[in-house]
Amino acid sequence: MRVYKDTEPWAIDNQRSFVKDALHIAGEKVLVRQRWHLDDYLQDKVERCPTCHAGQTQSIQERVSSAYGGQAGYSFCEDCYGIGYEGGFKPEVYIVYADIAYAAETWERDETGEEFVQQLRATFSYVPLLRQGDLIVRAFEWNGDKIEKEEGRFTTGEVEYQKLRTGPRQNNAGLKDMVIGQSTQLTTVPHDHAFQKIEIE
Ligand SMILES: [Zn+2]
Repeated sequence: MRVYKDTEPWAIDNQRSFVKDALHIAGEKVLVRQRWHLDDYLQDKVERCPTCHAGQTQSIQERVSSAYGGQAGYSFCEDCYGIGYEGGFKPEVYIVYADIAYAAETWERDETGEEFVQQLRATFSYVPLLRQGDLIVRAFEWNGDKIEKEEGRFTTGEVEYQKLRTGPRQNNAGLKDMVIGQSTQLTTVPHDHAFQKIEIE
């Protein structure tokens, strides 16, 4: 016998407000943009990027470099930031509160020099529903809902969803109606990464 526990809608609302209030008090304001995923494309919510997916015979690298005048070493598309779907990110820009704690900091070396990489642990409320690879922008200074001085850009890792409902579930269908909070690791976007060019206004 399988037991499915239902949750009273008021319990979800209560918990959501609780998490949201706590984040408003203890958290910081951040900007969020959600990237497109394959399942969005399969559900016809987005098209493939017309710039880098124009032809099927060339490799992505070749298509990108021909789209941008064949610049050597150009490895990402500026229209989708290398994501492959139109615009790369959903059009909505979210300004939300998150509780962010340091997990680790390291200096990482690549061809262009050393880079300070932070791993952060962040907790969010239930909106927007995050997934791996979303963009989070921290700010030193806000001017209303505009970032006056950017502190850094991060991408989300695997997202842990806090839910009230328990028991077996087929898939993540209806997830957005169940989540009361979310937590994930944030990792610094390297300075030469395409995500540094994403518009945040
Ligand atoms: Zn593209």
